[in-house]
Amino acid sequence: MSGPAVPAVVAGIVARELAPRAATLAAFRGARGETLDQGVALYFPAPRSYTGEDVVELHGHGGPAVLRLLLARCVELGARLARPGEFTQRAFLNGKLDLAQAEGVADLIDAATATAARAAARSLSGAFSREINELADALIELRMLTEATLDFPEEDIDFLRAADARGRLSEVRARLAGVLARAAQGALLRDGLTVVLVGRPNVGKSSLLNQLAGDAVAIVTPIAGTTRDALQSQIEIRGIPLAIVDTAGLRPTDDPIETLGIGRTWAAIERADLALVLVDAAAGDGITDADAAILAELPARLRRLIVHNKIDLAGLAASVEAREAAGSDRGRAETERHVFLSAKTGAGLELLRDAILAIAGAHEDMEGTFLARERHLVALREAAARLAAAEAQIAAAAPPLELFAEELRAAHTSLGAITGEFTPDDLLGVIFSRFCLGK
Ligand code: GDP
Repeated sequence: MSGPAVPAVVAGIVARELAPRAATLAAFRGARGETLDQGVALYFPAPRSYTGEDVVELHGHGGPAVLRLLLARCVELGARLARPGEFTQRAFLNGKLDLAQAEGVADLIDAATATAARAAARSLSGAFSREINELADALIELRMLTEATLDFPEEDIDFLRAADARGRLSEVRARLAGVLARAAQGALLRDGLTVVLVGRPNVGKSSLLNQLAGDAVAIVTPIAGTTRDALQSQIEIRGIPLAIVDTAGLRPTDDPIETLGIGRTWAAIERADLALVLVDAAAGDGITDADAAILAELPARLRRLIVHNKIDLAGLAASVEAREAAGSDRGRAETERHVFLSAKTGAGLELLRDAILAIAGAHEDMEGTFLARERHLVALREAAARLAAAEAQIAAAAPPLELFAEELRAAHTSLGAITGEFTPDDLLGVIFSRFCLGK
């Protein structure tokens, strides 16, 4: 519970004085003084609490019935149930966390891989916000110089030149580009990649999926909310979450349930970032007509990796090749990556993992990345575009200083949207409503 009425509400439940920030064993009492549960109470007086308000935590035995009784008692005494993310929203409104940190809380809870969890924890600890604030501070200095020049016309452009405004600006731009690159990596960690697995029956799709999922750190779980026939597994490659959609079920059918499953699979293919097209290395040279027909069915924009499986039977060595894509227009030849491997022996699996990550644009080392959201990337790109425009202006023979000042202001506002310094209320509502209850 959080809020100014906490001491009054808790007095109706716990008959003992609660020492600040100490665990107190107590009976939790109902309206007639009966014991509902016995547990531990923790009292965090404002402002030294998560939300910045008076906070009490009651730790009971956790059964749903007894928790409901306890909640009902709190409500009877004047509390109400919290909205999703309301604790964190109050922490933000009371200045305990900035917006990027608050988002880090939700992302930490939702993190699908250990690497993503570490990146979210970095955002929560303020590492991402610190980078943004340092950029904003450098921009503020530049804005002050510019505004001074505008306010005191006797301080003309020579003043800006003497203060090396251009040098400062290009420094800020370089730093922003670095933050943007790391944030883009973080977006990959957060959202991962959707990969579809296609190929003729018996070419080894299930075996390959098992090999990829068999990694020591991999998790294979059916995605909640999909039925058995939706065929999506969640795995990870070096910390990047991958949703693998197996298209084994794609075949003409009259069965309404199967049709639904196939519809979902096609929807997943439409959303996919990459197709792994399996062909049989043992069945002769290259790609058969049946393989070509499958390739032709994939959306044209979908990137693809051709996987020649069963090299152990074909007597080939594991390798990667770049080949000109079959059917690509003359003049704009596209290269296709071909990976030769064995899903049975595991030979070539590392080459496949490297090829997938290379296509995803993942770096070797994801540890320095921030678990950025699309919202952050949009703001960073907007700031970068404004600063690029500012640089063009200041480079002019007679720089239009007012426009220059305006671009700097807009870039500053974009950065401020990340930490919540300038963020419209409706956006805050959207961000916090996606949290889970009780956070
Ligand atoms: P799917 O129908 O495409 O999912 O194919 P499966 O994964 O079920 O594989 C079909 C058969 O090929 C199975 O008997 C597998 O054991 C076998 N298989 C799959 N990959 C390999 C491989 O790399 N080498 C060998 N020798 N057999 C393989």
